[in-house]
Amino acid sequence: MCSFSFEVFPPRKDESIKNLGAILDDLGQLSPNFISVTFGAGGSINSQNTLEVASLIQEKYQIPSIVHLPCIHSSKEKISSILQQCKERKLDKILALRGDLCGDLPKSKDFSYASDLIAFIKEQEGFEIYAACYPEKHNEAKNFIEDIHYLKDKVNTGTDKLITQLFYNNEDFYTFKQNCALTGIKVPIYAGIMPITNKRQILKISQLCGAKIPSKFSKILEKYENNTLALEDAGIAYAIDQIVDLITSGVDGIHLYTMNKSKAAIRIYEAVKYLLKEELQA
Ligand code: FAD
Repeated sequence: MCSFSFEVFPPRKDESIKNLGAILDDLGQLSPNFISVTFGAGGSINSQNTLEVASLIQEKYQIPSIVHLPCIHSSKEKISSILQQCKERKLDKILALRGDLCGDLPKSKDFSYASDLIAFIKEQEGFEIYAACYPEKHNEAKNFIEDIHYLKDKVNTGTDKLITQLFYNNEDFYTFKQNCALTGIKVPIYAGIMPITNKRQILKISQLCGAKIPSKFSKILEKYENNTLALEDAGIAYAIDQIVDLITSGVDGIHLYTMNKSKAAIRIYEAVKYLLKEELQA
């Protein structure tokens, strides 16, 4: 069965959670397998907002929710307190992350890598643990071999499922999956897909996470950069093409990075819903 899910981010500290209501109404109607909620590693986004949005998703929409949890600027005490709050809110799925380094914040004395956090969460029973992985390797890793070696450690420490960084070339994902299999990584791997809705945003994100832009995709960005609606059409078509190929090839799950925009998510779902249902019946 192919899982279908979404990522959303919570409102910033000074924004109201109500602003997310319309997008969650839209996403909720698509009955995804889960919705994950990001969490700012540097504290730019209030952790309370992440937990509130995750609770809202479960309580109002009856959809399982995953709480992202970065650790690199956090302590055991802080993480324990968040996990306790998760338990009280019946949030039992955690995406355990190192988090991106914020230069001006002190590094954690307790956690250096996601695997340290996974080991810590594992000590407390009752959580399903997700972790991040990188088909084009993590941008700080020296090479693929080193990166996959540490990924194996992360899985051995107690990861139940993996979600990939966004990528635009399915071949990178297939090679990565093969390497995971060769290394003995057997947990499900959900493919992270981000449809283009805005040229500047995609370039910035790809720069940050190191995702390559294939020439077919660059052509779309060049040609339609000043035509928002055409760019959206082409970006959605590109994402659908990627997803059809991934589902046909037996991917474990598709995780859509929505950037809190439901229109593209709805169009993508509409285009592949029978492929997903076929998978459900298979
Ligand atoms: P790790 O698994 O710890 O790996 C980080 C680097 O260290 C890699 O290069 C790895 O090869 C290396 N490494 C791992 N273990 C060791 C070791 N023992 N010794 C030496 N090197 C090691 N960030 C946020 O702040 N908030 C979010 O909500 C968020 N959501 C995300 C969701 C997904 C699906 C993904 C893919 C990423 C997300 N990120 C988020 C970004 C993520 O925090 C960054 O990519 C971060 O730089 C790495 O996090 P990680 O958990 O993959 O780190």
